[in-house]
Amino acid sequence: MLIDSHCHLNFKAYKDDLSEVIGRCHQAGMKVINVGAALVSSDKAVELAIANDNMYAALGLHPIHVYDEKFNLVAFQDLIDNNKDRVVAIGETGLDYFHLWQCLEKGAGSIEEVKKKQKEVFVSHIKLALDNDLPLIVHGRNGKEDKTAYQDIYNTLKEAGAKKGVIHCYGGDIAEAKKFVALGFHLGFTGIVTFDKTGVLEEIVKWIPTDKMLIETDAPYLSPEPYRGKRNEPIYVRHVAEKVAEIKGLSVEEVIEISGNNAIELFNLK
Ligand SMILES: [Zn+2]
Repeated sequence: MLIDSHCHLNFKAYKDDLSEVIGRCHQAGMKVINVGAALVSSDKAVELAIANDNMYAALGLHPIHVYDEKFNLVAFQDLIDNNKDRVVAIGETGLDYFHLWQCLEKGAGSIEEVKKKQKEVFVSHIKLALDNDLPLIVHGRNGKEDKTAYQDIYNTLKEAGAKKGVIHCYGGDIAEAKKFVALGFHLGFTGIVTFDKTGVLEEIVKWIPTDKMLIETDAPYLSPEPYRGKRNEPIYVRHVAEKVAEIKGLSVEEVIEISGNNAIELFNLK
């Protein structure tokens, strides 16, 4: 089954035509996980999951928002308790070393302080996931020079005893990819696979065991070829499947079937 394991129909980018976008998801017979980045967007993801039986929600405070609001454990736990089977993951959470300077502008004293804060909030998400036996949706991004985000994510997951989840829109190297998979984590691939010229992602897609791969759009961002530069939406995840199929020497239908089953199992989609 075609599943977009990570998108944001809960974001403002869809405010004018959300029902049309959702209609196209229904028409494609697909399932969609809408991922929260703060409390308001997590709430909205749950609303969408209640209104549409092919949609599910993930709850979290994105690392770039840790200076915009506090991690509200009580509110997130309430959303989980009141929406069993609709809330399927915790995230997105993780470490983002690309946008550290933005947090400095929001009042953080130093880069080290921002990193410490992101890690603290990340650990809170891991505990919430463990307490509720839910998988994590992890965001990672290296800085232009600072390439340590993924190793710090790995160490944090390991130290905190995290058990399952996905490193979404995977952007680390292959050595790090192997460590995440050894830890039991899945890797998520976006439209970037359709235009990445570095060869790194291709090598990782070629290597990854099929039972650990997920496909996603991260819509409204990261539109695949041939839609680059336009707003992304869940139905375009098929283009990610096509590219993954080409790299792995599988048929598109096989990739849709395998990655769909992986998502159903990891997120326990009902
Ligand atoms: Zn995202």
